[in-house]
This record gives sequence, structure tokens and C-alpha cells, in this order.
Amino acid sequence: MNVEQKMIIQAASEIAQDFDPEYWREKDKKHTYPEEFWKALVKAGFTGIIIPEVYGGGEMKMFEMILAMETLTSESCGLAGTWFLCLTSIFGGLSIEKHGNENQKEKYLPKIVKGMEFCLALTEPDAGTNTLNTQTMAVEKGGEYVINGQKTFISGADRANGMVLITRTTPIEKAPKRTLGLSLFLVDLPNPAIEVIPIEKHGINYSKTCDVFISDLRVPKENMLGEKDKGWYLILDTLNPERMSFSAAAGGIGILAIKKAVEYAKQRNVFGAPIGSYQAIQFPLAEAKAKIEAARLLNYRAAWRYDKGQPCGAEANMAKVAAVEAGIQAVYHAMQTLGGYGYAVEYDVERWWREINLIRLAPVTRQMALAFVGEHVLGLPKSY
Ligand SMILES: Cc1cc2nc3c(=O)[nH]c(=O)nc-3n(C[C@H](O)[C@H](O)[C@H](O)COP(=O)(O)OP(=O)(O)OC[C@H]3O[C@@H](n4cnc5c(N)ncnc54)[C@H](O)[C@@H]3O)c2cc1C
Repeated sequence: MNVEQKMIIQAASEIAQDFDPEYWREKDKKHTYPEEFWKALVKAGFTGIIIPEVYGGGEMKMFEMILAMETLTSESCGLAGTWFLCLTSIFGGLSIEKHGNENQKEKYLPKIVKGMEFCLALTEPDAGTNTLNTQTMAVEKGGEYVINGQKTFISGADRANGMVLITRTTPIEKAPKRTLGLSLFLVDLPNPAIEVIPIEKHGINYSKTCDVFISDLRVPKENMLGEKDKGWYLILDTLNPERMSFSAAAGGIGILAIKKAVEYAKQRNVFGAPIGSYQAIQFPLAEAKAKIEAARLLNYRAAWRYDKGQPCGAEANMAKVAAVEAGIQAVYHAMQTLGGYGYAVEYDVERWWREINLIRLAPVTRQMALAFVGEHVLGLPKSY
């Protein structure tokens, strides 16, 4: 690890110390946004980690971003340690850095460094996992696009000032290929043509995830991000890092839960010995730890390949499957280790359980990640 990478870990660790599990318990319970945490991330330069220096960022790579996310998540913040950086720095910063033109970079990247929040509007109620079935349509009229449609489960849309919006610009039946005809737009928020309604959910209650209704939204042509109709290929440069981010989160939550369980198992004594001395308690935690560390290396490899401009879909999807299963095993057995207290809000494990369960179904579901591995790594026929 080089000096800069060690500094990232050190800085993330210092932030994590100021935002302990009690802070997150309160934010989750009261459904309040962690303003103080966000300000600390911005102040430390974390929103600009991957943004070039010329726009005020740290000009580092996805690998360093993963180190920051892992540290924040595993040292105390749980999913929040990854979540907010992913929304703004990956969805906004990375998408624009990769595919924005000079005007777009100058307009948005310095603001993202200073804490402008972003969101990504991809999922639709009728398309779900099948992004190519996107129905939201952008129609060119004069110098602008008029956009109509609906998005769902858009995290951070209630607060963000910027949105990367995925639409069709060519209807699927007219596109030469199913993968052509999607385009990306940069949209400034709030906008009277966009209605945002939060969805009540199971966890991560310190951040809202929303339905988004778009009616006659007018967007200047120059707000298109990257080439028209090539949006499917462009967005993969954001979705793979998103997968890597959530793998970092899954492993990080697992490590956090294991630490809590170990601490508890060392001091809890019910039959004359600490419960941590029983193999039934010890081995599942040890196994989860081994699997998390293995998944972590695979995720580093995915990030390394991405940073080198090499294909990384195989590693990103395999790391996601492995990290989530290992993380789920860790949190599940942490809950068993704490017995009844594992179910009590005060001990935090139940919150991490709610958080880690999201990562099995988003950003990519376990099934779709496995379908990718089956087809592209194993060479089996497409399963759907
Ligand atoms: C809290 C939260 C935050 C989110 N944030 C965002 C966000 O910020 N931006 C955004 O765009 N989206 C976001 N999402 C959406 C998320 O990415 C999707 O929910 C997820 O991709 C699954 O889509 P779906 O819910 O429509 O499931 P569906 O596509 O309806 O799938 C349902 C089930 O069927 C399975 N399935 C479907 N097709 C196949 C197949 N061919 N083979 C095998 N199994 C299959 C799936 O794996 C899944 O288990 C968020 C979701 C949640 C819950």
C-alpha cells in the first residue's frame, strides 16, 4: 500500500471515530439525514477522491475509493460509510468524469468536491432488472429534449441537486439492437417537472429512496451525458464501480458485526465459560471472516482492473456475490452470538442485518449477478 492509500485509510478511520454506531442508531430511529457526517466527508475531501485535481479533487482511483468505503463502513458507520459516497461520487462524479464533456465537467465536478449531492435514476417500475426495457422517453424538440416517464427506488432524489437520468431516445422496437437507444442526461434538481415521493422502507432510514415522476421535463441538448443512444454501454462504467462499492459495504458490515460479536462472546459467560469458547459460536464467525477477506481481494482485483481500463464485469459480479453471502453469514451469526440482545435495537446488529439484506437485492440482485457469471465467466447459455 502506498503513502496516499495509507492516508486515505487513516483519514477514513478518523472520521469513523466521530460517527459511532450510537450516532447511526439515532439517525436510523429518527429517520434523519446525517448532515454532520456528510459535512465531515466533504471537509476531508472524500467526495472528490476520484475527481481530477484540476477540478479540485484528489485524482485517485476506484481502488482508493474502495479503501475509504471499507474503512468507514467496517469501523463504525455500517452501510452509511459507503452509501453517501456512492450516490454522489460514483453516480455523479465518476459518471461525469468518465463521459462528460469539458463544459459538464467544469459545471459539476468542482461542485461535487464541495458536496453537491447526486442521485442515479435508472430503475423503473415496469422494467425492474431489465434496464433495456426502460420506458422513460426523451424526445428531441428544437434545441432540447422533452422527457416523460417514471422511475422508482431512486436513493437521495429528495435532496440531490443533480441527477443522472437514463431514458430511451430511440424506442426499443426501432433500435438496431436492444442495447442501443438508451441515453443519459444530467438533470438539475429540484425541478417543477419532477415529483419526488419517498418510499417507506425496511432500513437505511437516514436516507430516503423515492418514486420519481417526470412530466414534460425540458432538458437542453447539451445536458446529454456521452453519446446519444449509447447509454447502456456508458452506464456500465458506473454500474460496475457501484457493484464494487456495495461489495466493500457488504464486507465492511460483516467485519463490523464480527467485531461486535467477538467483543460480546469474550465477556458473556452463561455456563461457566465465555460463549466465545464454544465452537458453535466461534467457527461460523471465523468462517465468515475468512470468506470476507477472500471476497475483499477479488473486489480489489475488480477495482484494479477498472482503474487500468480493463474489463472488470466478471470480477465485479463475482466479488458482489461472494462479499454479500459472506457478509450475510457474518451478521447472521453475530446475531446468534448476541442471543436475545442481537434482536435489541440498542446492540446495533439488527440494524446491520436490515442493511446487509438490501445488498443481496440491490444494486444488482444476487440472481442477476449469478446469471452474469454463468453466461460470461462459465460460458453457459444465457439463462433468460
Ligand atoms: C433501498 C433501495 C435503494 C435503491 N436505490 C436505487 C437507486 O438509487 N437508483 C436506481 O436506479 N435503483 C435503485 N434501486 C433499485 C434496485 O436496483 C432494484 O430494486 C433492483 O435492481 C431489482 O429490481 P426490481 O426490484 O424491479 O426487481 P425485479 O427485476 O422485478 O426482480 C425481482 C426478482 O426476480 C429475479 N429475477 C428477475 N429476472 C430474473 C432472471 N432473468 N433470472 C433470474 N432471476 C430473475 C430478481 O433477481 C429478483 O430477485 C434501489 C432499491 C432499493 C430497495
